[in-house]
Amino acid sequence: MKPKIIAVIILCLLFAGCSAGSSKEYVSDFFAMDTFMRITAYGSGAENGAGAAARRIAELERLLSVTDGNSEIYALNHSGNAGVSSETADLISFALNVAESTDGALEPTIYPVLSAWGFTTDNHRVPSEEEISELLKNVDYKSVTVDENTVTLGEGMMLDLGAVAKGYAGDEAERILRENGVESALIYLGGNIQLLGKKPDGSEWRLGIKDPASEGNVGILSASDCAVVTSGNYERSFTADDGTVYGHIIDPENGIPVNNGLLSATIVAKEGRMCDALSTALFVMGSDGAQEYWRANNNFDMILITDDGEIFITDGISDSFELDSAHTSLSVKILYK
Ligand code: ADP
Ligand code: MG
Repeated sequence: MKPKIIAVIILCLLFAGCSAGSSKEYVSDFFAMDTFMRITAYGSGAENGAGAAARRIAELERLLSVTDGNSEIYALNHSGNAGVSSETADLISFALNVAESTDGALEPTIYPVLSAWGFTTDNHRVPSEEEISELLKNVDYKSVTVDENTVTLGEGMMLDLGAVAKGYAGDEAERILRENGVESALIYLGGNIQLLGKKPDGSEWRLGIKDPASEGNVGILSASDCAVVTSGNYERSFTADDGTVYGHIIDPENGIPVNNGLLSATIVAKEGRMCDALSTALFVMGSDGAQEYWRANNNFDMILITDDGEIFITDGISDSFELDSAHTSLSVKILYK
């Protein structure tokens, strides 16, 4: 069974019984942005809100997809210069800002390298060093310019918002649910979670934090009114002939899938797009780099899980995390500023 499907089942179990109280539950399942999504919303506006949010996500996918021949990103990638909607321009600017602040760990122009590894078509392969170094010549977020709604790429470049689009979709889904009067909802977008308010009974949502090394959860995080986004290479990966496992997040320094001892990075913050961008970037940085970045930037919390059995959790959420009883061999370290 695919890890994501398992995660969904675990979530469903965790939320079983959430419908207590007078608030009516409405669940909408759909497939978008290449992943399973579920909106669970409560109250009288839930059905309309969930429908409108799902349509909005489909609209964002049409705008931002790298593969859809009608998307704005596709037009940009195939001409090198294009006028885009102000929404797309904003999201590109946001991704470029995070690229800057993470010193290129988030690299929105990594797409040609990702393609060479076959992640975009599922025809996985290990490219040669020469092929990778040739492709890396056209990878550099600093060569992308956004001038109002006109975006220009450097020679041979392609832009991919795959590391931030789902997070932004979560923000938009939340906004639309609120507009429809919904005060309580859990938006699950293939691993990304966006929480609107608390559970209908007034308690916090309880989220399973997946064990990246095996099945099950390392623990439960209680949270409300925020986004929770995890990046890890276990989600989409392939095993090469020599047994090496390669995942879909690429280290822009060397063009090779990240393999730095960090198994997953979970970011907790208000904004879904920020969580999504940082989860990918901090996963690339590795445990030490991520901790350094967190100390220098105080607008988010995080959980890092490493391959030597350590869980680092920032003090802002450490009281909200319960270690799973089957994972007590893991050592939990609280990070303070
Ligand atoms: P997921 O989409 O599985 O939830 P992420 O948000 O971490 O996970 O995004 C991973 C996607 O981002 C990849 O599938 C690829 O499209 C893109 N990507 C891979 N490496 C990088 C990188 N270093 N910077 C920006 N985007 C990346
Ligand atoms: Mg991401």
